[in-house]
Amino acid sequence: MKVAVDTSMCIGSGTCALTAPAVFDQDDEEAVVVLLDDSPPETEYEAVLLAVGRCPAAVIQIVPG
Ligand code: SF4
Repeated sequence: MKVAVDTSMCIGSGTCALTAPAVFDQDDEEAVVVLLDDSPPETEYEAVLLAVGRCPAAVIQIVPG
């Protein structure tokens, strides 16, 4: 699994960081998503997929590779 984020679309809700904190964080100033791990281990897949579904702005993408 490869993960990508379009930070220009992020509204800073923080759902991703709560759902998959090993993969997503937020910056301290504007709360924009910070991708901590663009190739997370299989143990994180379920949490990442939940975060994709819960992101209110469709910021998080699963990309091939
Ligand atoms: S859940 Fe989506 S909109 Fe909210 S901080 Fe994460 S990437 Fe941004």
